[in-house]
Amino acid sequence: MRKLVSAGEILVEIMAERIGQSFLEPGPLLGPYPSGAPAIFIGQAAALGQPAGLIGAVGDDDFGRLNIERLRALGADVSAIAVHKGHATGTAFVTYRADASRHFVFNIRNSASGLIETDGAATNLLASADHVHVMGSSLFSDRAIAVALSAIETVKAKGGTVSFDPNIRREIMQASGMRAALDHVLARADIFLPSGEELFLFSSAKDEKSAVDELLARGLSCIVLKKGAAGAVYHDRNGAVASSGFAVDEVDPTGAGDCFGAAFVSFWLRGAAPAEALRIANACGALAVTRKGPMEGIFPLEAVEAFIATGNTQ
Ligand code: ATP
Ligand code: MG
Repeated sequence: MRKLVSAGEILVEIMAERIGQSFLEPGPLLGPYPSGAPAIFIGQAAALGQPAGLIGAVGDDDFGRLNIERLRALGADVSAIAVHKGHATGTAFVTYRADASRHFVFNIRNSASGLIETDGAATNLLASADHVHVMGSSLFSDRAIAVALSAIETVKAKGGTVSFDPNIRREIMQASGMRAALDHVLARADIFLPSGEELFLFSSAKDEKSAVDELLARGLSCIVLKKGAAGAVYHDRNGAVASSGFAVDEVDPTGAGDCFGAAFVSFWLRGAAPAEALRIANACGALAVTRKGPMEGIFPLEAVEAFIATGNTQ
């Protein structure tokens, strides 16, 4: 089976217990939960049986151990996660507003995550990889950008493929080279997985159809538009395939896009038809929102298939 790799931020997430709770005053918190968009992605891919590994860095602390042990338990290759003494593992503190939007306090660039590099272990992991997945949020510093771009070139040079989820988090994406890096990654990508308004960051078109057509003409193999509870729509040069979301009670939206992407890319790599890859991806995205914590809703393939067999689409 083809092996996929991602590179970027590894964090613990600590969340406010109540919707509407503010960090401007003390209040009950939940966590730490293992997190970081590329970590969630790699964890979900591994849980589905796809060979998958992560390049990143944590501190020599309990938060780092929590992340590494979770990824290992899910079956991911953790050999390229560096452990740094003297730097704390990255953190994300999250509050949920009444309008369902989220507010993040991140410590990534100045945490152990900021020490990400293409060291010997990362080079070895990339030597065995066939596919690189890039999260826009992982382009959080010039150093992190260099790791992502070199991973792309290493894998592309041997005929591998690339997927890209913009996963825009304005709170962390302040590197001077970020905008150019986002455009560069898109130009090298085969699969593009935007959600919401992210599509329009890469096209001057005013409507979805024109933006999709413009981006496909630039060389992408396919575009998958994530549409929250409504599911997702796949586009390639032959047309579109829509797939409804599954009906679930959402308790925490964080991680849905990452789990969805991991499932879609894993099944695309296996040669699944778009409708089949979308169905598994929608199921993984739906399951992700049923648990508090970004990685708590990751399930193995058998559980995802059982959910599909009994789940209702919207
Ligand atoms: P994230 O917040 O993780 O970055 P995203 O914005 O990238 O998410 P979404 O469209 O919110 O992506 O969610 C990804 C997928 O997860 C959806 O396409 C859908 O399959 C599933 N999903 C998300 N929310 C729900 C929900 N409330 N009910 C059912 N499925 C959902
Ligand atoms: Mg996302």
